[in-house]
Amino acid sequence: MMSDPKTTFKEGCALAFDEEHWQKINYSTGCCEQNFAKGKVNYRNLELEKQRAYTLRNKSLLGLEKLLVDFETHFNENGGKVLWARNADDALTMIYDLIRKEKANAISRSNSTVLDEIELNGFLGKKNIRVVETQVARFVLQKGQRRAYHPVAPSIHLSKEENNAILTESFKLKPDSSAKQMVNFVRHQVGIETQDVPICITGANFLLSDTGGVVLTENEGNILKSTSMARVHIVVAGIAKVIPNIDDLSVLLPLTSLHATGQSMAAFNSITFGPAKKGNGPEQMYVILLDNNRSELLSHEKQRKVMSCLHCGACVSVCPVYKNVGGYTYGTHHIGPVGTVMTPLMEGLEDFNYLNSACALCGKCVEICPVKIPLDDLIIENRHLAITEKTGNSRYDALLKTMIWNCKSRKKMDSPLFIKKLQLKRFFAPLWGDKALPEFASKSFSQQWRERNL
Ligand code: SF4
Repeated sequence: MMSDPKTTFKEGCALAFDEEHWQKINYSTGCCEQNFAKGKVNYRNLELEKQRAYTLRNKSLLGLEKLLVDFETHFNENGGKVLWARNADDALTMIYDLIRKEKANAISRSNSTVLDEIELNGFLGKKNIRVVETQVARFVLQKGQRRAYHPVAPSIHLSKEENNAILTESFKLKPDSSAKQMVNFVRHQVGIETQDVPICITGANFLLSDTGGVVLTENEGNILKSTSMARVHIVVAGIAKVIPNIDDLSVLLPLTSLHATGQSMAAFNSITFGPAKKGNGPEQMYVILLDNNRSELLSHEKQRKVMSCLHCGACVSVCPVYKNVGGYTYGTHHIGPVGTVMTPLMEGLEDFNYLNSACALCGKCVEICPVKIPLDDLIIENRHLAITEKTGNSRYDALLKTMIWNCKSRKKMDSPLFIKKLQLKRFFAPLWGDKALPEFASKSFSQQWRERNL
């Protein structure tokens, strides 16, 4: 995990007052919303389709145990190998063992939140293994030593000029290159850098239980290209990615594309059933099924619904908190509303309880979610859990109790102004951050009422 997430969150909230950041994020997320609005006209009854997706995903979650075991049987029968990882360390050890077996000194990887969750790049960096990002946005971010800011559009926070500056610093590229020139350049560069890389590591959008298939959806074709060039394809997938069969894809894939980019379907959709039998494609294929406290999350009867997430990123793009504080402020790899629900339950309520305050309960995420996850209700559930488990901020709780006590008493509400100001400064200011404190009216409500009604 990144350095002290609580401090990251506290400091990052200052971004809410950064006009330039606000404009950049609101412009980019506004484009996402417009694309979605254009794309959804292709559906006669989007609500019905979402209801279908909700039913399919929840049915899969209920039968997860059998689906996973069946997936393992069928994938192994296809010539691949399923490995079970309890946590990130297990997954990284398995990956490193495979890298050593291949005597590789470089790997290529796809845009995947689960690979960020296990902190793949940092781990391999320490082992002197070169990591080549194959997605255009991620490639640029890596050269600029930055992390993803959004699950689907990782460099949503960078302007064209900022992308250009990163690329001109790393390569001989014209400083005033157009967006098209930059994309073409990066695609060419990715091709060069992945040429002799023997191992490709990807996430998975879905795993098909009845056939052992691995479903990947993308727009750049980089996953298809790098997996077909590699000798070994390693897939890391959270255990909740498994679905019964290919039929469910007719509902889930178009909904994922629509909510991610507004497209009817992503440009490249592939299903790989194991290593290549002959010709092009990897000689070996592994699927690492990652738990990493997902079982713990599944044990929460209400919050487990979040595991049906398609990782389309739509809830992130509409979230007013994200639009104000951006992707790094969360201090987590799963950002936005979905990360706000998942992370405290997967990584510990004590350390990530602060995320409970990263929600305005506006319900926009619930409205847009293609699998109808009641994210706002689940955040309330997490808040409830934090109170019952007493992992909340005791100072904040005490302050709220005092405020309620004060507000219930007319006499206290009518206290002299200097006493109210003193209380605000003494008890409220330490929790309020660097912002200016709210101003009290010079006269109390009762005083004003009396004066106006005389
Ligand atoms: S919670 Fe819903 S909207 Fe958000 S990423 Fe997951 S599927 Fe998409």
